Amino acid sequence: MWVESIDLLLEKLQSQEFPFFKVKVISGAGQQHGSVYWSTTSQSTLNLLNSSYSLATQLKSNKVFAITNSPTWQDSSTSLQCQNLEKLIGGPDVLARISGSKGFERFTGNQISKICLQSPSQYLQTSRISLVSSFLASIFLGDFAPIDIADGSGMNLLDINTKNWDDRLLDICGKYSTHAYENDVKFGEELKAKLGVPESDGLKILGNISDYFVKRYGFSSDCKIIPFTGDNPATLLSLQLSPGDVVISLGTSDTVLCYTTNPHPTLESHTLCHPINKDLYISMLCYKNGSLTREYIRDLYYNNSKQNNEKDSDSAKWKWFNEILAVSSPDPKKYGFYFVHQEIIPFAKGIYRFFNKHMADDFKDMPESNIRIVVESQFMSMKLRVDKLLSDDRNVNKEVELVKKVLVVGGASKNNEILQVLADVFGVQVWRFNATNSASLGAAIKARLAFSKFMNNYRSDFNINDLSENGNELVAQPRQENTAIYKYMMKDYLELEQIVIGL
Ligand code: ADP
Repeated sequence: MWVESIDLLLEKLQSQEFPFFKVKVISGAGQQHGSVYWSTTSQSTLNLLNSSYSLATQLKSNKVFAITNSPTWQDSSTSLQCQNLEKLIGGPDVLARISGSKGFERFTGNQISKICLQSPSQYLQTSRISLVSSFLASIFLGDFAPIDIADGSGMNLLDINTKNWDDRLLDICGKYSTHAYENDVKFGEELKAKLGVPESDGLKILGNISDYFVKRYGFSSDCKIIPFTGDNPATLLSLQLSPGDVVISLGTSDTVLCYTTNPHPTLESHTLCHPINKDLYISMLCYKNGSLTREYIRDLYYNNSKQNNEKDSDSAKWKWFNEILAVSSPDPKKYGFYFVHQEIIPFAKGIYRFFNKHMADDFKDMPESNIRIVVESQFMSMKLRVDKLLSDDRNVNKEVELVKKVLVVGGASKNNEILQVLADVFGVQVWRFNATNSASLGAAIKARLAFSKFMNNYRSDFNINDLSENGNELVAQPRQENTAIYKYMMKDYLELEQIVIGL
């Protein structure tokens, strides 16, 4: 399917007379964690693609895939492999310290481990394992392309400190038989050979485009291929962050991203190598209870309110929600924790409300207070974690304001009342990022930077606005009086959160 979609995309561009010959450098973004298993016939097929046929036809007839159904990020069937990996390496914290994350089902190392155990013969027929990003790059290069270290940070195999594979993790994930060794070869060494050397230079020219694309579509034979990266690092690249910028994605679940100069892995976060800057790391906090939980609380109190009708439209419900946010203000007597789904940050489940620091069933004086409190509680949790991360990274006192501005993306980022609470809690301006297809844009920026570097004209201050009209839009300024109240509330919030975690 992925190969067919490349054929389709290029054919469509061709029918629109896209000027392929003008393309100087190609990069790309692939969904993170997914993996592709190339067979022993694949490299020679890639080297000798025949421009008279589609990619799908010849890759299929030459049986280039040892495993036809690639595991993707949505697979969560590897809990046993995660537990095993954590146990054998010395615990989830040790795994996080090495690879940037504790064991996660979708992470490629655990997917490989499952294949080793359940389909050892297919594993042995695999000559190379690619991520989705390096698979795509391999097609355009006409040869195996390396795994880039940012995308590779989502595997539970790469040591994010040394930016190379960790031999112990390889040994555990590459084990396909109960013997300590098979054919005198260590499992880890076998897996290392299948993965190839990870590429730490995200702007490296890997080579010229395969002749196939020159002949079939009219690309210039001089067009360069650089490492492709994962969709998450590419999205981050598209935002063109400065130090102190924090990105918050308000999607179905909420994600917080920021840059650090050293890795600070925790059990609650993911730490990734930066896709182009060797001196930076990306810290990523993923909250399960994001928009869906805000929506749940909205509906709960909307439906309880006599003047409302359950069948009203979504926009009528958000309007009601926003009116409450607009007329209410932070109340240091009231705190709430809304973990409708099992939360990982912190590890807790359930809904808990506190009035004057005592647990309460609800805010009897005004049940609608839950609307403001669910939003501020989510943002206070983010602020606490981001402040800790950045102060640890810079080795400075937490009192120093390290967050300079917040950038928002995702479904709820169109809601300015929610963003006002965000600005108030963080005490900084909130900007909305308006560009669409941000993963593709990040990949395009990467290609553009590689081209500048290749032409000895590299600009690290390269600005996305040079390329795109869709820049960032200032959407909320902090209100100092509210920021002061939230700052005061943080201590009690942390204390009450500890009580909730212990329940
Ligand atoms: P995903 O994370 O699945 O890509 P989106 O980024 O599109 O999803 O976000 C979807 C979420 O955005 C929905 O769950 C919805 O609750 C939320 N959302 C949509 N419109 C609004 C709005 N006006 N105010 C607040 N939240 C909204």
